[in-house]
Amino acid sequence: MTSARNTFFLVLLGILFPLHAEMSLSKLKSMSPGIQTQTDPLSLKAVVSYRKKKVLMADGEKFFIAGAYRQYLNEAPFFRGTEFILPDSVAEEVISELGIPVGIRAEKNGTKTDIREAVALETKPRRGANFSFIVIDPGHGGKDPGAPGPKGLQEKELALKLSVTLATVLKKKFPDKKIYLTRGDDRFLELGERSRLANKLMKGDNWGVFISIHGNASLSPKSHGFEVYYLSLNPENEESRRVMLRENQSSGPADVRSIESWMLNARIQTESKMLARLMNSRLSSRLEGLVSSRGIKRADFAVLRGSLMPAILVEAGYLTNPREASLMTGWKYRTRFALGIAEALEEFSVKVQNE
Ligand SMILES: [Zn+2]
Repeated sequence: MTSARNTFFLVLLGILFPLHAEMSLSKLKSMSPGIQTQTDPLSLKAVVSYRKKKVLMADGEKFFIAGAYRQYLNEAPFFRGTEFILPDSVAEEVISELGIPVGIRAEKNGTKTDIREAVALETKPRRGANFSFIVIDPGHGGKDPGAPGPKGLQEKELALKLSVTLATVLKKKFPDKKIYLTRGDDRFLELGERSRLANKLMKGDNWGVFISIHGNASLSPKSHGFEVYYLSLNPENEESRRVMLRENQSSGPADVRSIESWMLNARIQTESKMLARLMNSRLSSRLEGLVSSRGIKRADFAVLRGSLMPAILVEAGYLTNPREASLMTGWKYRTRFALGIAEALEEFSVKVQNE
């Protein structure tokens, strides 16, 4: 991607790396003619809709309602006089929820190009209705063991085991899709290399989804549960940041500076979030009685940052929790984990075709 780095100078306007710390609802409305807004200073509520989607917010409340879903926020929107104000992290969340194309532009030799064209130049122009491949990324490997577990168990080993079972299940479930592993043995891969390998598979109409598999760790042996992450440039809380720093520790400055990390557009973001929700819901059902959900979270994982396709990261459970560590190495958990992911991907496949 060195040549790409020289060719493109990407400018993100407004949203992702904001110049201002907030956005008014009227400013948001002006971003696209398709955006409808309604505010009610009496009930202190505001509604934003775009196409068939709608988000309901309330003054001072750190969540919004989208359909039957409640999305938690790290800041609250509020009324300033009659103007409804969204702090940037809220604006980003609303925009990604509604799938509003954001003002991201790429400058190519001084000519402004839409980000999708920039992505297309990298990955070939078209995109089929449905994804044609799945990339499974077993976390860590080689000199990077990841988190330590009981009896010498290492996260890299657990991630590979879970990934191999997942690959086997996915091959059966999706005979028409290609299934790839970023590593099939105990080898070290740079974080940026993982998404680059996946991005290279995008040819012609082909696109895919990227799933990074990890195990969690905590100082407390009582911490338990699985988590599903999708990419955010604003980690929502300290807990996310802690996990993020740990997962990112083997990334070099080149990864951080990688031009691919800028290629986050509304579509990839929206689809990643959709995939994370489906994954969380299917895994919750399949793992019931084994490992419980800690929810869907947003974090700035380096391994997801470079992805040009919907990407999520799953922390399968806690290696530092003796019960979960022992469950995760067993076939029962591994099979159910794989089935949950397979079902979520099946549902995702139907949804993206109907979008
Ligand atoms: Zn990890």
